[in-house]
Amino acid sequence: MIIIKEVYYLKDRRNQLKKEINLPFIISVIVLVTVLLTLSIILGHAITSKEQKREKLATEQKIKEHPLKKTQLVLDQANEHLKKAKVHDPKAKPRVALTFDDGPSPKTTPELLKILKEKKVNATFFVLGANFEKNPEIVKQAKKDGNEIGSHSFNHKNFVYLSTEQAVADHNRVNELFKSNLNMDIPIFRPPYGSTNKRILSTLKVPNIMWSVDSLDWKSKNSQMIQQTVKQNVKPGSIVLMHDIYPTTVASVGIVIDSLQESGYEIVTVSELLSYDGETALYFSQSDKQQPKS
Ligand SMILES: [Zn+2]
Repeated sequence: MIIIKEVYYLKDRRNQLKKEINLPFIISVIVLVTVLLTLSIILGHAITSKEQKREKLATEQKIKEHPLKKTQLVLDQANEHLKKAKVHDPKAKPRVALTFDDGPSPKTTPELLKILKEKKVNATFFVLGANFEKNPEIVKQAKKDGNEIGSHSFNHKNFVYLSTEQAVADHNRVNELFKSNLNMDIPIFRPPYGSTNKRILSTLKVPNIMWSVDSLDWKSKNSQMIQQTVKQNVKPGSIVLMHDIYPTTVASVGIVIDSLQESGYEIVTVSELLSYDGETALYFSQSDKQQPKS
C-alpha cells in the first residue's frame, strides 16, 4: 500500500510540474536572448568597421606623408611606358641590344649618334644626370633619332651605400631632367657598377637593366678587341655593355654593328629586346631575370 501511494504521489507531482512550466514565459525568454544576441553582433560589427576605417585613414595619411610617394608615381608612369614596349616575335631574327653608359660626352657621343644613324641602328643610352644637365641637346638628339634613354644615376654613386632617402633624391633629380628635356619619366635604370640590393630595388621601383656581355671597352680601349669580345660572347637576347665616353669605343661601334649583322643579329633597343612585366627585377638578358640576394 505504501508503495502504491508513493507511485500516485509521484504521478501527481509530475502533473503539477507540467502545469508549473509556463510556456509563454519560455517563449519570451528565447525572444529576449535572440534580440540580445543580434544586438551584440550588430554593435560588434559597427565597432570593427569603425576601427578598420580609422586604420585605412591612417595608412592613407602615411602614404601621403611618405617620401617615396613621388617614386611610386614615377613607377606607375614608367610601367605605362614599358607596357608599350614591343614583344619580340620568336620567329624573327635573333636580337641583341647595344647599351652605352656614363655619357653623354660632347667629345664622343655626337660621333656615335652619327654612326648609329648611318647604320640605321638604335641603341640604349644610360646617361648620367650630371652629364645630361650639361649636354641636354645631345640626349634630346639621341632620343629624336629613335634611341632609348635610361638613367645611370646623377653622378655614379654606388647606391648600396646611399640611404634610402639619398637614393630617392638622386633618382628624382635625374627624373626632373627626363621630364623637362624629354617629357617623360625615367623608364629604365642601370645602377652604377651594377650594384644594387633589395632595399634599393624596392625603393626605386624601376626596371633595372644590367648586361650579359661586357665588351671590356673600359679595359682594353682597343677597337679590334672590343669587337672580338662582343662577337665571342654574344648570343640571342644579349645586352652588350659599352661606354660612349671613350673614343676607342666609338671607333669600334661601326665594326661591332657590321659583325653582329653579318652573324644574323638584329640590333634593337632594350625595351624592344625585353618584355617587362612591371616588376622591379634585374634584367640581364632576354630570358634572364634575377633578384639580388640581399
Ligand atoms: Zn657607369
